[in-house]
Amino acid sequence: MSTEDTAPDPDLVEAARKLFAGPVAFLKSAPGLQFLPPADVPEVAFAGRSNVGKSSLLNALTNRNGLARTSNTPGRTQELNFFDMGDPLRLRLVDMPGYGFAEAPKDVVKKWRFLVNDYLRGRAVLKRALVLVDSRHGLKDVDREVMDMLDQAAVSYRLVLTKSDKIKATALDAVRAATIAEARKHPAAHPEVLATSSEKGGGIPELRAAVLEAISA
Ligand code: GDP
Repeated sequence: MSTEDTAPDPDLVEAARKLFAGPVAFLKSAPGLQFLPPADVPEVAFAGRSNVGKSSLLNALTNRNGLARTSNTPGRTQELNFFDMGDPLRLRLVDMPGYGFAEAPKDVVKKWRFLVNDYLRGRAVLKRALVLVDSRHGLKDVDREVMDMLDQAAVSYRLVLTKSDKIKATALDAVRAATIAEARKHPAAHPEVLATSSEKGGGIPELRAAVLEAISA
């Protein structure tokens, strides 16, 4: 059985390309719920373990270097970062704080959990989350915990493999098949898994289309 995604509609891909080529601007960082922007635009959130390639992917999607910055101190950035897209405003990208850093103190993990859970549960404009997974590592228990949080908050989400250029096509097929098999056991997970490479551009047009599709549904 092929694990390739069915190709998205070319019109959707083109509309998504245009949207992501348009204006993108950092709006704000929210270290707590009281700092969230007004819930007046559809949001799509990006989550993943620290170092999964989240900043690189946000930069590749928007074709801007340095839009999303990597923290040099994993576990210290406990903020949701909001980026406005489109003129007129169409969508907000939400960069969620990375998780799963080995040496994080317990209170940091706890703070992450509260912030993310509160956001996920209370945000009607949140249309979809994209949970990024390193192609070389596949799903880890911390990712599964986040998938459970999303299932429980009834936030629809999609698993996205990153750094696909770092492994061979056969290994990528295997990790994609394993990831799809797990996704299908989770009620809020999309049954397909996209593979992307910020470095080589693979899967980026399809991911843009997946974002546009999420806010159009
Ligand atoms: P973040 O902590 O999730 O924001 O991760 P970064 O975007 O900072 O990426 C972590 C490391 O992985 C950096 O050294 C990136 O250059 C590298 N990286 C990210 N995406 C890719 C990719 O698609 N291909 C390759 N080869 N390296 C990548």
